[in-house]
Amino acid sequence: MTHSDHAPLVDMAITYGLLKYDTHDQLSHMPIVLDPYLVSQLNIDTMKNSSQIYADLLMTLPQAFLEKYLEPLLLNDPFINVLLRILRSSPENAQPYRQAIGRNDFFIASSGTPKQVEFNTVSVSFPMMSECMVNFHTFLESTKAISRLPLENPIAKEITQCFLDMFQYYAFPNSVLLMVVQPNERNIFDQLAIEKLLFRQAGIRAVRATLEDIGRYGILRHGHMYYNNFHVGVAYFRAGYAPEDYQSEEAIQGRILLENSDAIKIPDMQYQLAGMKVIQAVLTDESILQSHLSCNQSREYLAATSVYTRPLDNKDAYEKVFRHPDNFVVKPQREGGGNNFFGTAISSLLNDPSIDFSTYVAMERIHPELHNAQLVINNKVQPPVPCASEIGWYTLTHAMHGAINTDIAGYLVRTKPATENEGGVCAGYAALNSLTLK
Ligand code: ADP
Ligand code: MG
Repeated sequence: MTHSDHAPLVDMAITYGLLKYDTHDQLSHMPIVLDPYLVSQLNIDTMKNSSQIYADLLMTLPQAFLEKYLEPLLLNDPFINVLLRILRSSPENAQPYRQAIGRNDFFIASSGTPKQVEFNTVSVSFPMMSECMVNFHTFLESTKAISRLPLENPIAKEITQCFLDMFQYYAFPNSVLLMVVQPNERNIFDQLAIEKLLFRQAGIRAVRATLEDIGRYGILRHGHMYYNNFHVGVAYFRAGYAPEDYQSEEAIQGRILLENSDAIKIPDMQYQLAGMKVIQAVLTDESILQSHLSCNQSREYLAATSVYTRPLDNKDAYEKVFRHPDNFVVKPQREGGGNNFFGTAISSLLNDPSIDFSTYVAMERIHPELHNAQLVINNKVQPPVPCASEIGWYTLTHAMHGAINTDIAGYLVRTKPATENEGGVCAGYAALNSLTLK
């Protein structure tokens, strides 16, 4: 892109770190939004409380609970099959220090209250970019380009401390951070920002590797994980959430090595599986939730922020979806965006005799409140259009010998035109945004 194509605004967004590689491997700016999204303090508090409860809850779920609901899927879902195989080939407490970086995503529904879209337990994207976005909006407010200050979002500080705590606990000098990545990752700057912070603050080195490379060049010695002779203290998964990540036996072995090692894993396979859509579906069932969450008030929080979600082979759910497909979203056990079924695609799915309905969940469709916003895409400020915004809360959950604690580290806002069904930024549907108080 030539300089004359840029709005000065885009130059500044780039200076604030809002960068990505586009589909042609060209460096470009992140899709961004000019107008912060207005949310009430009450809704912010509700989302944060509910996210804390939910993140803790997922950490308490025992392996037997996960197996109970995932085992029936493994026959017809090769991805679940491989993840369960990895879970079963590692001891439950190879490393008692458990750590997760999650994100609980919500829409503010047209009724005015927040409803959970999903909780992400692995490879949660954009923590650093979301802080860059808030810093950028703060700058725009100072120039009067926008009128409202965004809500603070000091994620970098929180995440750095979280990593420093892990390395302090692991306490092997010169151990490294293993950043587990996909080959040809385009959303790389969010990851590199974390590597840069850890090096600058504590001289911690990061080594980047794919699961396949870890399987090929990794080795376990006395329970420690070594990759290319680097002693791995912490393995941070920014990959491993999609079937393509486990296509070779080496890649599967790479994950098995890590799960069997004493490296602290963000997250371990158990927490990753707790985020499967079918687990999220059964956790909206009050009778099941009751035996895993004893606090009435916590259950009320979760009930108030969730919508009807059931495995699609549930008779009641199937009938509801069959009658009113437009009122539902049908989801397979996948992450990363672009996998869900909406509208007529649901009807085609229901008519496909080769489909095993137990591998999908049916979720009531949330109708988000709409607001006008201007997106900045490919160096151009777009005219205002009605948009929906999805708000994610980053959860840092730590567990050790049954003591569990979640801190809310910050937030992410992704705004998309109301005409889009899906919501990913890298997938090209949505743009980064910030929150401002109503
Ligand atoms: P993934 O794990 O692939 O990111 P999500 O469950 O987050 O899948 O769904 C992807 C997108 O689909 C969301 O960002 C949201 O825009 C849309 N979506 C998901 N569930 C619902 C729902 N119940 N109602 C309306 N839109 C939804
Ligand atoms: Mg997800």
